[in-house]
Amino acid sequence: PAEGAYHFPLTIRHLLDGVVTKAGDQQIVYRDSGSYGYRDLVNRIGKLASLLNGLGAEQGQTVAVLDWDSNRYLEAYFAVPMMGAVLQMVNIRMTPAQIAYTLEKADAQILLVHRDFFPVIEEILPSLPQIKACVAIMDGGGDDLPSWAAGEYEQLAAAASPDYPFVDFDENALATIFFTTGTTGNPKGVCFSHRQLVLHTLAAAGSFGASSASPGLGVGDVYMPLTPMFHVHAWGLPYVATMLGLKQVYPGRYEPDMICHLRRQHGVTYSHCVPTVLRMVIDGARASDVDLGGWKMTIGGSALTAALCAEALALGMDVGTGYGMSETCPFIAKAARRTDEQWTDDDAQVTALSATTITVPLVSMQIVDDAMTPQPHDGLSRGELVLRAPWLTPCYLGDAKASDDLWRGGWLHTQDIATIDSEGRLSIRDRLKDVIKTGGEWLDSVQLEELVAMAAGVEEASVIAVPDEKWGERPLAVVVPKAGASLSLDIINDPLDRSISKGELPRYARLDRIEIIDRLPRTSVGKIDKKALRSRFA
Ligand code: ADP
Repeated sequence: PAEGAYHFPLTIRHLLDGVVTKAGDQQIVYRDSGSYGYRDLVNRIGKLASLLNGLGAEQGQTVAVLDWDSNRYLEAYFAVPMMGAVLQMVNIRMTPAQIAYTLEKADAQILLVHRDFFPVIEEILPSLPQIKACVAIMDGGGDDLPSWAAGEYEQLAAAASPDYPFVDFDENALATIFFTTGTTGNPKGVCFSHRQLVLHTLAAAGSFGASSASPGLGVGDVYMPLTPMFHVHAWGLPYVATMLGLKQVYPGRYEPDMICHLRRQHGVTYSHCVPTVLRMVIDGARASDVDLGGWKMTIGGSALTAALCAEALALGMDVGTGYGMSETCPFIAKAARRTDEQWTDDDAQVTALSATTITVPLVSMQIVDDAMTPQPHDGLSRGELVLRAPWLTPCYLGDAKASDDLWRGGWLHTQDIATIDSEGRLSIRDRLKDVIKTGGEWLDSVQLEELVAMAAGVEEASVIAVPDEKWGERPLAVVVPKAGASLSLDIINDPLDRSISKGELPRYARLDRIEIIDRLPRTSVGKIDKKALRSRFA
């Protein structure tokens, strides 16, 4: 086109276009600390950019946030990329050494730090000479401002101009960085551009419209994240909720009482979380007599068991699984019912909602073997799920070898084993590294976990592979008993035996070893830490 012709880069600032008019009186709420409307949100985004600019933040530099889920975090989701800087979401559950590693790798120059993380920052700041300024978030707390802070978030914002001159720039500019929890070795950095986040936001919003029968976010909903904002942009939903101009509720640190209170107080209708947090919400609601009816929740990050799915549905919740990973921004697929599909009974509904997904718009997928040969979409053949979509991380920061492996053959390798049926329904069966290879055959740890969890007296269970001289590997169930229950190998094997006799499970799946423990170890985002279990029991 001729110079000056129509040109519209997909930058994050455009997610706010028209939102003040559209959102009317909708509120952004933070715990019990009050709320404000969308006009204030946009003003506060301008103020944050002005104050960061005053502290020396420049285009292309990294601004890192250490905070609980808050309106401040939402402001940073917009202000930092909108001014051309890069937002680093710091995983506050990492060790101080890992946090220092990630700040150094991302070359973070300015930090926004909640008071709960002052001790971590004090410990690592001397080893991070590149940091120019830190903003303290006192969050209503009365402590003195630490000597290393350039000021307090609310005070600096009060003095800053709301009229920051945001401009457009190349949509391929980097917008966000964060680090995966690192199942082995150091955390790996992934990054996303403006264009990627805008397309991801549109596709996620579009996917909710695509199906009438799985939890979705739309007009009239009240949104509250329950996946931390430091983890994969809280699955991108704060961007969706803001673009749609919905009422939003930010719960701070996840505490069951506060979550239940906010649900009741503000009529929260849509959230998303890992299965562990769903468990916490259900138990918390029971204890405080909160009605969960109609609460829509997308559950992802690890398999939603049929039992938990059925329990949530019985409480009137509208739950369904979603699939994605840090490397994929994360949305790839979600539970859905095609309009012409009828569920014959409750079991069919639970299976559909907990174990099958369809891809969101603009995603291509294949299942492949080691040689990258595509496997048939017959619902039975397995392979590693590989993906293409406009919003996948182009690389791991500063790690060429890992990036080459990730993108082998031009597709992103998920390291998840999946099946795809003839109608495009994707089922995640297991992780490549968790699957149990016994006597040349594969057993899905996820399937065995489902069955073990059905045994009488089992509170929670995880199944891992342990080395075995004869068979290569054998499954080992690590089980947490219900209070007062006594467990044995036969009791645990009971549901497996029933499946074996129906021909649903091979004989060699029968367990020959269990371990009983008080609590399953969890990763920093609340998933069962199988690596820790393997190193303890293998
Ligand atoms: P980590 O690998 O540290 O757990 P992620 O949070 O990126 O990091 O997790 C992504 C992984 O979570 C996926 O590769 C997959 O194994 C698992 N996962 C995500 N969603 C689902 C789902 N709906 N069902 C089963 N597993 C899932």
